[in-house]
Amino acid sequence: MAESDCIFCRIAAAELPAQIVAQDERTVSFMDIFPGAVGHALVIPRAHSRNLLDVDPDDLAAVALAAQRLAVRVRERLGADGVNLINSTEQAAGQTVFHFHVHVLPRYDGDSLRLPWTPAEADPAQLAQLAERLR
Ligand code: 5GP
Ligand code: ZN
Repeated sequence: MAESDCIFCRIAAAELPAQIVAQDERTVSFMDIFPGAVGHALVIPRAHSRNLLDVDPDDLAAVALAAQRLAVRVRERLGADGVNLINSTEQAAGQTVFHFHVHVLPRYDGDSLRLPWTPAEADPAQLAQLAERLR
């Protein structure tokens, strides 16, 4: 996708409005306009990449550090009790905006958000086989 067609590239370039909360040489952090929780924000690299599979490693590191700083801030300033960092890579995982981003999702004791999977005990043989394929 050409960068001019990408809404997050346009936010990073200040061509589209956003509630920016932090920025540095490599990253921009701003409020999600369809928040899943009070204080839900996104961290993006300024440089375009599609998702986790192609993001520049230095941009990935910079985004991780910016997300950590923001997580500390949502605890201090918004009184969040916890934080989920979430990344969705490709449509199968629920990605809807194809410019790499990490969600900083503040969590509050007793909130109704749930993990996107239902834990179920694994078959040990299958776990071992999968681990072998991933080594
Ligand atoms: P994804 O579904 O790709 O993991 O996350 C994309 C996120 O971007 C969604 O949570 C969505 O609410 C947010 N979003 C989509 N368009 C805009 C926009 O124009 N401005 C802002 N600030 N957030 C957006
Ligand atoms: Zn982009």
